[in-house]
Amino acid sequence: MSDTDKQLRVSKIRNGTVIDHVTGGQALNVLAILGIDGAGGESVSIGMNVPSDRLGRKDVVKVEDRELSQSEVDVLSLIAPEATINIVRDYEVVEKLRVERPERVTGLLTCPNRNCISNANEPVDSRFDVVDDGVRCGYCGTIVRDDIADHLSVS
Ligand SMILES: [Zn+2]
Repeated sequence: MSDTDKQLRVSKIRNGTVIDHVTGGQALNVLAILGIDGAGGESVSIGMNVPSDRLGRKDVVKVEDRELSQSEVDVLSLIAPEATINIVRDYEVVEKLRVERPERVTGLLTCPNRNCISNANEPVDSRFDVVDDGVRCGYCGTIVRDDIADHLSVS
């Protein structure tokens, strides 16, 4: 890969996950999806708007001592479709995961329709089906297109 050298701008980690080729400016949303806000004591390195041959600008997120599951990776595809995930053990990449769009996302996004039953005080998790042009609320059919990260319900 021609941008290997540029990856070195962010220091290597011993064990954990490197999320590379994140859409520029989305790194903090990636952390939100992973539920990482610093309170858990995780060691996180972020490179933002790093020059990339493939994307122009990209973000890189490195999380130490945490290996992402495939389902977490799939959700990342909604905001970072080009992301590549490297699982690192003892400074070596032992596994590469590709992001794939999931068919459905549960409990992660908030429906923008205020009258939606998922926004009432009902014991229902939000549920969105992933469609070609975004995600569609499983309850009211509202489609969220470009600003998916604005509707993250994680905090
Ligand atoms: Zn809805």
